[in-house]
Amino acid sequence: MIEAHPAVFGAATRVLTRAEHGISRQSISSAALRVLYGLKESGYAAYLVGGGVRDLLLGQRPKDFDIATNATPDQINKVFRNCRLIGRRFVIAHVRFGGEIIEVTTFRGSDGGSASGDRFVETDGRILRDNVFGNVEEDAERRDFTVNAMYYNIEDFSVTDYAGGLADLSKKVIRLIGDPEKRYREDPVRMLRAARLAAKLGFSIDAASELKIAELKELLHEIPPARLFDEVLKLFMGGHGEKSWHELARLDLLSVLFPDLKPANLRANRVFLEQALQSTDARIQAEKPVSAGFFFAVLGWPMLQARMPDKPTQDQRSDAIDTVLGQLSRIIALPRRYAMQVREIWEMLPRLFDASATRARRILPNPRFRAAYDFLHLLGADNPTLKTLAERWTKAQLPEANLDEIFGKPGEAKQATPDVPGLQIQPSEAVAIEVAPRKKRRRNRKPR
Ligand code: ATP
Ligand code: MG
Repeated sequence: MIEAHPAVFGAATRVLTRAEHGISRQSISSAALRVLYGLKESGYAAYLVGGGVRDLLLGQRPKDFDIATNATPDQINKVFRNCRLIGRRFVIAHVRFGGEIIEVTTFRGSDGGSASGDRFVETDGRILRDNVFGNVEEDAERRDFTVNAMYYNIEDFSVTDYAGGLADLSKKVIRLIGDPEKRYREDPVRMLRAARLAAKLGFSIDAASELKIAELKELLHEIPPARLFDEVLKLFMGGHGEKSWHELARLDLLSVLFPDLKPANLRANRVFLEQALQSTDARIQAEKPVSAGFFFAVLGWPMLQARMPDKPTQDQRSDAIDTVLGQLSRIIALPRRYAMQVREIWEMLPRLFDASATRARRILPNPRFRAAYDFLHLLGADNPTLKTLAERWTKAQLPEANLDEIFGKPGEAKQATPDVPGLQIQPSEAVAIEVAPRKKRRRNRKPR
């Protein structure tokens, strides 16, 4: 091992030669290799960096490969035909090869360094725009965690560790680079990233980095809700949702993102939530599709229960759903299409009770049935009545199912409406609920 680049990190910097680390080019995607070689052949420095290097050093398969270079966005654009420049906060080049998109960024500069370009910092220290370019050491200093600041150089296949990431990898620690308070103030989303990476890697968060979260967590409310929504998806739809949930709860960040999720309702739904998170993780593990709409229906369920009056009318139930969809998108921006999916699942649920064979025949082909059925199944995890009902619908989906036997003829329904908040509805109204799929909105056409 040799020491190098003392400028920014001093003695902390270590270089592992090709023979001293286990990263082989075979474990790097061919698209990432093409970008690395493309930049190198055009005379630029090019490094694999961030989670890609971290995960390869841990012997895991990276989710994506990020590349850093001294080529400016315009220069990157000239090297690759299949390149698009995106972003404002950070200009990033997306280079596409086949189905894969590789993110390429120009080295970020540090304050007062060898910089050129523009950076805009809010008075509270938040960095709103950061297109100051610099060199590789400065780029490393601007990264979030020590384990994310290791650079695999395509020139000689060495790995340079600028901030002590190798030591933290072996200690299994997520540690911010530099002063935690300053780094969280620059970008509060780093608090969520710390929680997510700790959950994903099974690491702990360094004490100093963790301590400041309690003090600064409210800063997350200054982040544009659309960016928070993206982070929430990464937290829960990345295959480590259950662990992310516990990590967020432990750091008291869940209540920052979803202040309307009250402890009493969370406690009442503990088994349901855990089962739902586990089943999402298992589906991702098995490379089965997952639905964000379904996840938000699960997440909002304890909120809906809190808002639901006893035996609500349809209108009251519908109002409660509206209120909770508003609460769910108060801090994170829940896109409309997901909000619609959540509403459809919640509206379908009471229809699964008190169903006659005739109604069951109409419910089964409904495009939302499957999601509502899965939801009911999860609710049944710690409620025997609901479990029995879910099993009835399981039988109903079998090709040889005799619906008259399972559900009874009209007027002799075999199910009672359960006494569970959120599922109750006035008995007279339950029968009246229409099962027809939502009408398509008509566009206003110009008269001929
Ligand atoms: P994942 O496994 O989820 O891809 P990752 O660490 O690679 O984790 P990305 O969002 O892909 O996360 O980001 C790539 C790299 O960019 C990070 O490893 C880190 O070096 C840097 N980075 C990302 N977000 C930030 C941030 N908010 N502040 C500083 N650096 C960041
Ligand atoms: Mg990544």
